[in-house]
Amino acid sequence: MNRDEERPNGWCIRRYPEGNVGGVAFDCPGCGSDCWVPVDNGEKGWAWDGNESEPTLTPSLGQRCCGWHGYLRAGRFISC
Ligand SMILES: [Zn+2]
Repeated sequence: MNRDEERPNGWCIRRYPEGNVGGVAFDCPGCGSDCWVPVDNGEKGWAWDGNESEPTLTPSLGQRCCGWHGYLRAGRFISC
């Protein structure tokens, strides 16, 4: 796990070595656990809107670590 990456808003885009975006790494808004979700067009992972500075993921994030449930919308975590 690369903890050198910066997560100024609690998340960061993570790329494969060849440069394609593979997912979003984030600190769980509920408990701070180190988390990651794969993104693609929504077929297998979460759908990402392509915005690297203010990403939105669909559908919601349901955290097994602590039960937090919410969204990453426009770069911000929103509890629901
Ligand atoms: Zn958690």
